[in-house]
Amino acid sequence: MSKRYTITAALPYTNGPIHIGHLAGVYVPADIYSRYLRLTGNDVAFICGSDEHGVPITIKAKKEGVTPQDIVDKYHAIIKQSFIDFGITFDNYSRTTAKIHHDTAQEFFKTLYDKNEFVEEVTEQLYDEEANQFLADRFVTGTCPKCGNEEAYGDQCESCGSSLNATDLINPKSAITGNVPSLKETKHWFLPLNKHEDFLREWILKGHKKDWKPNVYGQVKSWIDDGLRPRAVTRDLDWGIPVPVEGGEGKVLYVWFDAPIGYISSTKEWAAREGKNWEDYWKDEDTKLVHFIGKDNIVFHCIIFPSMLKAEGSYILPENVPANEFLNLEGQKLSTSKNWAVWLPDYLIDFPNQQDVLRYALTANAPESKDNDFTWKDFQARNNNELVAIFGNFINRVVVLTNKYYDGIIPTPSDYSTIDEETLAAVKAYPAVISSSIERYRFREASQELMNLARLGNKYLADEEPWKTFKTDEARTKTVMFVALQIASALAVLSEPFLPFTSTKLKGILNSNDNGWEDVSTKDILIPASHQIGKGELLFSKIEDSEIQIQLDKLEASKKANEAEKKATEPQKDEITFEDFTKLDLRVGTIIEAEKMPKTKKLLVLKVDTGIDTRTIVSGIAESFSPEDVIGKRVTVLVNLAPRALRGVESQGMILMTEDETGKLVFVNPDTSTALSTGIEGVKNGLQIS
Ligand SMILES: [Zn+2]
Repeated sequence: MSKRYTITAALPYTNGPIHIGHLAGVYVPADIYSRYLRLTGNDVAFICGSDEHGVPITIKAKKEGVTPQDIVDKYHAIIKQSFIDFGITFDNYSRTTAKIHHDTAQEFFKTLYDKNEFVEEVTEQLYDEEANQFLADRFVTGTCPKCGNEEAYGDQCESCGSSLNATDLINPKSAITGNVPSLKETKHWFLPLNKHEDFLREWILKGHKKDWKPNVYGQVKSWIDDGLRPRAVTRDLDWGIPVPVEGGEGKVLYVWFDAPIGYISSTKEWAAREGKNWEDYWKDEDTKLVHFIGKDNIVFHCIIFPSMLKAEGSYILPENVPANEFLNLEGQKLSTSKNWAVWLPDYLIDFPNQQDVLRYALTANAPESKDNDFTWKDFQARNNNELVAIFGNFINRVVVLTNKYYDGIIPTPSDYSTIDEETLAAVKAYPAVISSSIERYRFREASQELMNLARLGNKYLADEEPWKTFKTDEARTKTVMFVALQIASALAVLSEPFLPFTSTKLKGILNSNDNGWEDVSTKDILIPASHQIGKGELLFSKIEDSEIQIQLDKLEASKKANEAEKKATEPQKDEITFEDFTKLDLRVGTIIEAEKMPKTKKLLVLKVDTGIDTRTIVSGIAESFSPEDVIGKRVTVLVNLAPRALRGVESQGMILMTEDETGKLVFVNPDTSTALSTGIEGVKNGLQIS
């Protein structure tokens, strides 16, 4: 039965491009769901847009010396293009700086204000005297009072997911100046979540929401059980949607108040363009509202936004909020600041036209019930062992043999064998199996069922061996190829939500676009005899180890850069006096002999001409330099260090070393100016190695 659905996908925040974590957590599952519902004849509005307000954008703009509008214009375009490139079929993709959104959000606020749904209160808020600015949200960091994470933000702790008020933070620190903030009075409007506690308890805990994913239900339950508190929905900022009531001058709506309203304004924009009534999608009890989000947004979509909708009074509430857990990358948390990510624009440069491979790998390994790890090896295996070896191989054999034996004209079958009948009956069962998984938001399971259908086809061909019967039994060969072509047709239809580019390509090869989802289970013949199909074309190609290595090298480079940066920002050592410094007798010397210390890995025994004498120095640099590398090098020597015996050789000084910006050990060379990223390190010298 056809139904109306409003499907929203979390509004991506426009301070950077999007990466595989976003795709896996929100956009691919939401797209699979939307495509499936359209294929099965439902009325779908799949809604998204860029989230363009809030503090991080203003911080980034300040850092880059541009306006916040410049930042959001840039990333809105990049993000929107990524969604198009990866086949995400939003019916509308808007942005929260659009006029229709400002109007909608202000109207929403005004309605709650007029209904006395806010508490207006002058409170003391954190203030940065030097920056002359109130500190909320990302402008302030401190220790989370719930879990002790020292890098919690003023509105949320990303470690435990708690939603916070800035004044809750222990040891708060301004993100602008690093100063300890003071307190200053200011007026704000608060949404009294405590007032909605009974409704939330009734709706989520006692209602029918037990079919929500356990991770979502569990988090929401624990917040409600802890007790909810009023939450400020306005901010003292100059970037955002102006507060539209008296006394709101110089204040804007809190970004998490305006962002979810973005789903509504984006729907309005779409409805106006398509000649539809937007209210059908937001105010009709028969419409199913589903929010696809990542787990860090659960509180906003299950507590705050429903409370806003309930307070407003004319809106429906979400039917489900299938939040995903996080995707990690090669065992580490995805991180924009550490560049530990696979950015979608970069992926398409390295793997052009292979969007479906990433969609498939992310779905087959989706973080549906726990955090999951994306590895490049798994990506390669999903492609080579499943898409190429099973799906692609089956289609390729069917298409190539049909062209070879029958010039691409589908042959007329004779009587079916039991195997043929069982196989065709099994194919007919797939739409229901895959539907059932998708409708329960189990997209991994659904993608594996699709692959099982391709497996069925592969096994059928391997068992029936038309390439053998072709010489001996013409009628049997025709029947087998006919059955195989029915399976290929079913794959063309059922793969669409998961592998949309492949599905289109396959429909093109089969020259067939007539079948719907239901037809696969109801029609006896999906593609008829005498129908002409096209030439073969590879659907997938093998990904080589060398291609995977390039990706791993990129990550390794990120890791190195992070370590170098961390080192560069390590605090300097304790202060010393000039007198301390004058105690060092530094001389320029030349290494005249060098050999490895027997039975050690690290030590070189050097003879150094210091200008005053020639002395022996044992240095722990053998892992970085061979003896012949260093002979003749001019170096800086600390000559008055107390002598020390190492492996029976007395070392009479220390050669100064440091690391260059890439972390490579280099001599402090008196002849060239080396840019020293870190302090001089005697630690690397043999004298310090015990
Ligand atoms: Zn926390």
